[in-house]
Order: sequence, then C-alpha cells, then structure tokens
Amino acid sequence: MKIPVAILGATGSVGQRFVELLHNHPWFDVVAVAASKQSAGKTYRNAVNWLMHTPLPENIASMVVQECQPNIPVKIVFSALDTEVAGEIEKRFAEAGYLVISNASSHRMHSDVPLLIPEVNRSHLELLDQQKFATGKIVTNPNCSAIGLALALKPLHDRFGIEAVHIVTMQAVSGAGYPGVASMDIMDNVIPYIKSEEEKLETEPLKILGTYSNGHIIPASMKISAQCNRVAVSDGHTGCVSIKLKQKVSPEMMIEAWRSCSSDIHHLNLPLAPKKATHYFDEPNFPQPKLHRHLDKGMGVAIGRLRKCSLFDYKFTILSHNTIRGAAGGAILCAELIHALEIR
Ligand code: NAP
Repeated sequence: MKIPVAILGATGSVGQRFVELLHNHPWFDVVAVAASKQSAGKTYRNAVNWLMHTPLPENIASMVVQECQPNIPVKIVFSALDTEVAGEIEKRFAEAGYLVISNASSHRMHSDVPLLIPEVNRSHLELLDQQKFATGKIVTNPNCSAIGLALALKPLHDRFGIEAVHIVTMQAVSGAGYPGVASMDIMDNVIPYIKSEEEKLETEPLKILGTYSNGHIIPASMKISAQCNRVAVSDGHTGCVSIKLKQKVSPEMMIEAWRSCSSDIHHLNLPLAPKKATHYFDEPNFPQPKLHRHLDKGMGVAIGRLRKCSLFDYKFTILSHNTIRGAAGGAILCAELIHALEIR
C-alpha cells in the first residue's frame, strides 16, 4: 500500500517535476494537487502548461486542482510554492499536523529546521525534535545551486578541511520558475543578477555542512563568495569553483575523494538515491548541461576540469540538474529518507 501525498504549487516548474518524478514512485502516490486560486477548480490538465519531456500522467491530468488549504487527506505534502507565499502556507500545514517537505527558502535557515541533503547531513533530522508544531514538521531542501555545491564540497570538507570557496554560477532559465525570464531578456544574453541567490549560496552550505550538536547546528567555518548569473540553458546549473583547503593535497587525492565518496544512506536503497552523488569526468571539456544534467536519474553531481588555481589551491567545474537534484528529486529523496528511518 503506497503512502498518499499531495503537491502544493503543483503547476509550476518544480511542481511539474514532482508530478513527473512521483508518477509510478514505488512508495508514494500523488492523490491531490494544489496551487493558487487562479488554478483551483480547474483540472490539472487545464491549469498547467506541461513542459516535461514525458507525457502528463492521465490520473493527475484529470485531478481537480485544490486551493492550498490544510484539509487534504494525506500526511505528507511536497511544497513547490512560490517563495512569496510558501512561508505562511507551509506553517499552516505543519500546524495542522502535516509533514511538509519544502523547496522554498522561507524556513530554510530557521534554527529548528533541517536543511537536508540526505547523503550529506542526515543527522540534522535530529532538529525535528526542537520543532513546536504539535505533530507536524517542516523539512527543507536547500537552494538548487547550494545542493550541487554542498555535495561536491562534502568529501573534500570531510577529508581535507576547507578554508575558502569562490563560486561563479551559470544558472538555467527553469530556475526562475515558469514562465520565468522573458525570452527577450535572456536570448543572446547573460544576466549577472539573480535576486537573493548569492546570499543563499554563501550561507546555506555552511548550515548544510555544519555539525549537529545538542539540538543545534554549528555552522562549518569556511568562507564562501558567490557570483550568480542567469544563462540561456533550459535545465542544469553550472558552477566554476575555486577552493582553498586546510591541508596540501594532490589532484589525485581530490579526484579520489569524489570518486570514492560514499554516504551513510547508501545501505537504505532509497529509490531516487543516485548510485554515486559525485562523478568526476576526465574529459577536459566536461561537464556540460546538455550532456550531463540527467546523470544518475538527474540526481548526480557532475564534476570536472580540476586544475591548480593561482589564487587558491584548486579550481574545478560542477553541474547539477536544478529541478531534479536541486528541487523535486532532492525533496523526494528527503521524504524517502524520513520514511526509511521511520521518523514520525
Ligand atoms: P513557479 O514555476 O513560479 O511555480 C510557483 C507555484 O506556486 C505555482 O504552482 C503557483 O500556482 C503556486 N502559487 C503562486 N502563488 C500562490 C498562492 N498565492 N497560493 C498558492 N499557490 C501559489 O516556481 P518554481 O520555479 O516551480 O519554484 C517553486 C519553489 O521552489 C520556489 O519557492 C523556488 O524558490 C523553489 N525552487 C525552485 C527551483 C527551480 O529550479 N525552479 C529550484 C529550487 C527551489 P499557479 O500556477 O496557480 O499560479
């Protein structure tokens, strides 16, 4: 018997990805879709502009979109709500007893909310004991670029220690939601500004890579500087990273850290978990969004171009799928972990 779940913000860029990834999921069954008042009352087929590469599942297409009210007969809701409204709506669902797994930034940095990447910081789920929502809970999925960065940094942080990171991102248009950036703005162009993105990328990895201790997260002590750009790529965020480590290491040791990285969720065989979270490519012109965004079900982080940096120690390039690993897929993996650990 599958677990019934609902999607809030089901009509958007991330919401559609939830619908696609949860179709035929072995554990979860989407029984309700919800969105804004403009969509509520329409069938999902009529409310959505379906942009996924797979056909719109017939059972979801015929569902009537609901308003985001906490009266849906499920225990788990995935939130792909617009950040402007997510904070309040998600809080109401948690207060009503739901487990909310959110992609929005509203609750991410709250001291009692896990900012979860299952392969990186499952111990942060201990924070749920600090939440005061009676039986409901909020778990958040990090920013889409922060997820790729944190997964790439984790093996280096554990083995060598990190002092400083500089990252320049080239982020896909689907990261701006639907319809997102106007085509007249992005065609033939690079936009060197994404609202609040640099702040998220400079702070979220410190919480993600931080240590859980006695009901708190002690943030990782490294410094991060980020510059974020919107580019004319459909899906997949690329990041050019320079890194200063706490000890001298060879390039072979760096690559070995990525290639041999394992995680403490591996044995749980979670359906959406990648075989390996990080994949290092030797080809000098990899990774590329067009070629590698679907790596390992879209859940893997592609890494390449490791070389010496004349300012820091090393530089390299990372790439991850923003609406799969960086949003819906990451959130589903969080729910799979919570279910496998039998957290109630
Ligand atoms: P989007 O395409 O703009 O979709 C927003 C969704 O929120 C739509 O379903 C919309 O419904 C719904 N909504 C808007 N106002 C509402 C209201 N007042 N009440 C209820 N529902 C409302 O945005 P997105 O890109 O999917 O992003 C969703 C969330 O995920 C955001 O918080 C974003 O920051 C985060 N995120 C996005 C990405 C990405 O790559 N896109 C990655 C990581 C995290 P209608 O269609 O009815 O308006």
